[in-house]
Amino acid sequence: MMLDPCITSICYLRASNKLTPNKSCFMLTIHQEGSAKKTTMDTKKPLWTCPKCKKKFVTRNLWHSCGRFTVAQFFAGKSLRVRKLYREFVKFVRQCGPIIIDPAKTRISFQARVRFAGVAKAGKDSITAGFWLKRRIHSPRFTKVEFIPPNNHVYQFLITDTKDLDEETLSWIKEAYEVGTQEHLRKV
Ligand SMILES: [Zn+2]
Repeated sequence: MMLDPCITSICYLRASNKLTPNKSCFMLTIHQEGSAKKTTMDTKKPLWTCPKCKKKFVTRNLWHSCGRFTVAQFFAGKSLRVRKLYREFVKFVRQCGPIIIDPAKTRISFQARVRFAGVAKAGKDSITAGFWLKRRIHSPRFTKVEFIPPNNHVYQFLITDTKDLDEETLSWIKEAYEVGTQEHLRKV
């Protein structure tokens, strides 16, 4: 039996209120939400900009790596085909609304108010894309699903062709974008 990948996240969230580096690009936000508990998060408040790296966050002084990376660095040595898939994916995601692109060493995140989707990996002929929802959905296309309590689900799927950017994908990304704009907190 494979170890559920969410186990580390559960332990991590329960073990500490302090943030430490974590693989998932959504962990910072999920953690913030978790620690906000039942107090209503102000979803209209302007984002805080880190004075060092200029990255934007919903709360001040949130732990993050302050690394400065570029999309070009992320795709260094990768094929033109893979870069084109990335560009198409960005265009596709922008159908939902404005996004901030936040490249890190091992991933690229797309952010509305918070990070809601991104690219987890650039392969030889494909990119591994990810997105965050507040509910569990099912598709044979998912290559990885991470559950982070109480109701966070992080999905990964492969984009090997622009055909993979279809209606189904758009429905996922649209819903994830609402998580990114913190729409779900507003409705509560
Ligand atoms: Zn910073």
